[in-house]
Amino acid sequence: MSEHPVNRSTFDQVMVPNYAPQAMVPVRGEGSRVWDQEGKEYLDFAGGIAVNALGHCHPALISALKKQSNALWHLSNIYTNEPALELAQELTNNTFAEKVFFCNSGGEANEAAFKLARKYAYDNFGPKKNEIVSFYQSFHGRTLFTVTVGGQKKYCEGFEPVPGGVLHTTYNDLDALKAIISDNTCAVVLEPIQGEGGVIPADPEFMRGIRALCNQHNALLVLDEVQSGMGRTGELFAYIGLGVTPDILTSAKSLGGGFPIGAMLTTSKVAESLGFGTHGSTYGGNPLACAVALEVIKIINDPKLLDNVGKKHDRFRKHLEAINSKYAIFTEVRGKGLLMGAELVEKYHGQGKDILAAAADEGLMMLVAGPNVLRFAPSLIIPDEDIDEGMARLERAVAKVVTA
Ligand SMILES: *Cc1c(COP(=O)(O)O)cnc(C)c1O
Repeated sequence: MSEHPVNRSTFDQVMVPNYAPQAMVPVRGEGSRVWDQEGKEYLDFAGGIAVNALGHCHPALISALKKQSNALWHLSNIYTNEPALELAQELTNNTFAEKVFFCNSGGEANEAAFKLARKYAYDNFGPKKNEIVSFYQSFHGRTLFTVTVGGQKKYCEGFEPVPGGVLHTTYNDLDALKAIISDNTCAVVLEPIQGEGGVIPADPEFMRGIRALCNQHNALLVLDEVQSGMGRTGELFAYIGLGVTPDILTSAKSLGGGFPIGAMLTTSKVAESLGFGTHGSTYGGNPLACAVALEVIKIINDPKLLDNVGKKHDRFRKHLEAINSKYAIFTEVRGKGLLMGAELVEKYHGQGKDILAAAADEGLMMLVAGPNVLRFAPSLIIPDEDIDEGMARLERAVAKVVTA
């Protein structure tokens, strides 16, 4: 089919089958457009799953990466380095946090957060205070601890025994949390918008209630902003818009704009529990990743860019509602900023992946969140023309699926 030395069928020969990638193999990206091996063009509404916050190959990120690649790549944490220190300053100057720990992914950032929550409770209240409360449908990563804290049982199946001391309850239900939280709770963990779970935003009242319950029980509030953070909701981090301050916050995905990096942010007081030798990462905070992320945050943390995220949300919403008024396929369009979900009506349940496939045919990359929710997590600076063109392609894909 393809005369390229490697192609999609190579995947089946040499890769572990834990993914099922699309048939085409992308080779180049620019802004919100991507081209595959055959030269076919795609609009990108997926953004590498909320990662490519500034699109593909942003000139300022290329320049930051090139500059750092000529200076210093890696040292290990036996030494510190300028990009890591500057990035940590940028993160602490613009958030509640006073201290930062760097790692390489969202899962690792959450692993660090959960370990810190346990250790902080152990240091200050003793070993009995070790329970972590989390929510159904949540997603926190794929390490054994993070799949255990995550609220999707299927990701633990076959990997048992999993770590103990993890409880789950219903998202956006404060009474359910009240029933389960206790003085043995060391942390309550949640995503301000459940991403993988279906793009479900937390009610502001629920968030305030969690904060009060955490205070009452001396439990830490851990916000997983791996997907919702770094401008995605139109605020640098979603907690800022919710008016509730966490004790620990995790970031990754958009933080590196496509270069792997994760970060755990916390207060000085809580940070004390990760004393010398308690935790670490060989690559965490390496100069290359930090130099790119420093450029990303400088560009994103700009009132005009953040304000535009809201405007682009409105444009997405208008198009989705127009498609819905024609085809009546969505129960609702929800989410904040450029993390949006459109839930399919019952008639089309299970057909999210069919719409995805039809969209790919039309030249559109997008996402689902579960079987019934179309998810949009594009570049925060996607041009309006690209939104319009991508939506025209989505409409053609929807038309195909509803008449099939
Ligand atoms: C993607 C995601 C993670 C996991 O991040 P990785 O970089 O894949 O380890 C954790 N939490 C949330 C909310 C995510 O969306």
